[in-house]
Order: sequence, then structure tokens, then C-alpha cells
Amino acid sequence: MNIKKLKKNFPNVNIKENEPLAHYTYTKTGGPADALIFPKTKEEVQKLISWLNEENWPVTILGNASNLIVKDGGIRGATIILTDMNQIVIKEDTIKVLTGAALIEVSKRAYQSNLTGLEFACGIPGSIGGAVYMNAGAYGGEVKEVIKSVTVLTREGHIIERDNNDMDFSYRHSKLQETDEIALEVVFELKKGDAEEIKDRMDELTYLRTSKQPLEYPSCGSVFKRPTGYFTGKLIQEAGLQGLKWGGAQISTKHAGFIVNIDNATATDYIELIEHIKEVILEKDGVQLETEVKIIGEDHPVAVESRDNLMKKAASTFHAQLGKILPLTEDN
Ligand SMILES: Cc1cc2nc3c(=O)[nH]c(=O)nc-3n(C[C@H](O)[C@H](O)[C@H](O)COP(=O)(O)OP(=O)(O)OC[C@H]3O[C@@H](n4cnc5c(N)ncnc54)[C@H](O)[C@@H]3O)c2cc1C
Repeated sequence: MNIKKLKKNFPNVNIKENEPLAHYTYTKTGGPADALIFPKTKEEVQKLISWLNEENWPVTILGNASNLIVKDGGIRGATIILTDMNQIVIKEDTIKVLTGAALIEVSKRAYQSNLTGLEFACGIPGSIGGAVYMNAGAYGGEVKEVIKSVTVLTREGHIIERDNNDMDFSYRHSKLQETDEIALEVVFELKKGDAEEIKDRMDELTYLRTSKQPLEYPSCGSVFKRPTGYFTGKLIQEAGLQGLKWGGAQISTKHAGFIVNIDNATATDYIELIEHIKEVILEKDGVQLETEVKIIGEDHPVAVESRDNLMKKAASTFHAQLGKILPLTEDN
């Protein structure tokens, strides 16, 4: 992987080298991207993918990084962030939008055009691409209900248009999670509505969100998917975990389904706390929590080393203790 060659082949594309992803993620954690690339058009993404494939670069796609934990070692190869690819075109009751646009902005533009259907999304901080990938939803709405079609780029570099039925949408899931395709453009189909009613609904949802969620701290939203028949926040509360601090991360005292970065948390703090919650809830309630947030990237080499050292230290302490009870032999 030669970054100079990449920059030479794409002189008009903004490319940052060794760029800390903590500057972009909503948790404000995560190590560096070898190359962070900001295309502005679908054509640029397609050309980039073809070139990066030929050069054997691994490729990671980011939207607004609001549903991600990037590990402390960062991401090797190319990381394409789509937030500069954000054109929104409204025609009658359809909105055609490039997938780097913010869902909140599209929801606002729909309201300004008297279009109803995207009120539920007025506080979801993702990009359109991330929202499609996750089938984002809130307060009874999901993006799948208003999407007509999605233009995707396969990892082999082909462009395909998928209609709604072909996206396998379900709770926090779309086909893209299996195919790894990149969403480039989305067409939303909305309905004409009453501007005042749309605004009232958005105000109501904004009030609910700000009163219930710890928006004053960095976070990645709800960490876990809702397990059938349970509420994650309630399970965590009843296990006595709410407020627990792990390094600089804390289970929010306002909403137990969120983990907030209260004091320079690392991605490792987040990941260890998530594992701890899963273990406690499995043991106490027999419920296997599944993360909604996506964890990507590599461990920090120092973290791996210190974890290995800790394990060696623990093993030798154990052997030393054992040696006091039993004479040590080759077998123990
Ligand atoms: C405070 C807060 C509140 C939240 N509230 C909600 C909520 O109410 N409802 C809800 O559903 N979510 C919520 N979220 C989570 C998050 O905003 C959504 O999941 C959002 O859809 C993620 O979009 P993103 O652009 O940030 O995706 P990212 O975090 O950048 O990426 C998430 C995944 O999508 C993939 N991806 C991103 N763009 C594309 C693309 N163009 N093509 C293919 N794959 C892509 C990435 O590779 C990654 O695997 C919240 C998060 C926060 C921080």
C-alpha cells in the first residue's frame, strides 16, 4: 500500500494520512486511519474502489461514524468517509440524496418542503448510507418505510439499483450487512403533509430524545439491540450496573442503554465495558445481548502487548501460588 501513489492517482480527492478517527467518531475514540479518503461524487467512489481493488488495499466505509467503535489501533488500508458526498434533490414528493448527507438534514428538508414520513428521523445523527445499512429507526418509524430504491456499488465495482423489496430490511438490518455493498444514492418516497403537524411531531420527538438521552456526552447511541421480550436499559438497571465506570467510559446515569465517554475514554474501555455488561446479563437473566454498534479496526499494539503481559503475569502468579501448595513439576 503506497499512499503517495494513491494521492498521485486521485489528485482532486481530499486524502488524509494517518488521520486519528477519534476526530470523527461520535464516541470520540478510535485510532488512526492509514488513509482517510473524502470522495464527493458517486463516480469518484467507483473509481476509488476499482483502483484500490487492483492495488489490493483493504477498504472500510464510514458514514457519520455515529454507530461505530473504531478500535484503538485504528484501520489499516483505505477508509472512505462519505460525508462530503451529500447532495439532496427534492422533486414533488421524492427526495434523491447522495448517501453522505445527514439524515437529520434530509428530515429537515422534507419538513421545509411539506413532506411527511421522515419526522421520526429528525434526531438520528447518522448519514443516509449508515441509516440504510442499519435500517435506522426511532419512535415507531424506520427508514425502510420511506425508501423507494437504493443505488449500490458492489465491492467488485459494479453499480446496481435495488428497490425496497430487494434490500431485506428488518430490525436494524439491511442486505448491505451481508453483501458489503456500498450505498451511493437513495430515493425516498414521501407524502404531502401539513407543515404545522410535521413540525409539532418533530418538536415532540426532539423533546422526548433530549429528556431521555445523555446527548451532553459523546456516545454511540444504544449500544445493544433490543432483545425480544426485554428492554436492555431495564436489564442493565436491574443488574445494578447503571453508572458503572470503566476507564473513561460510563454506563449513562440518564439512559442505561448508552455508554458515554465522560473522561477521555479509549475504545478499549468501551469494548471491555460492553463485554462486562454482556457477561453479567447472560449470567443473571440468561439473555444474550447483541451489539447494535459495529466494532471495527485493530487493537492497539500496546494494548495487545500489555494484555498478553498481564496474562503471563497472572499465569506465573498462579504457578507461584500453586508451587507453595504443590511441588512444581514439568506438568504444571
Ligand atoms: C446520540 C445518538 C442517538 C442515536 N439514535 C438512534 C436512533 O434513534 N435510531 C437508530 O436507528 N440509531 C440511532 N443512533 C445510531 C446511528 O446514528 C444510526 O445507526 C445511523 O444510522 C448510523 O449512521 P452513520 O452514518 O453514523 O453510520 P456509521 O456509524 O458511519 O457506520 C455504521 C455502519 O454502516 C456502514 N455504512 C455507513 N455508510 C455506508 C454506506 N454508504 N454504504 C454501506 N455501508 C455504510 C459502515 O460501514 C458501518 O458498518 C444514534 C446514535 C447516537 C450517537
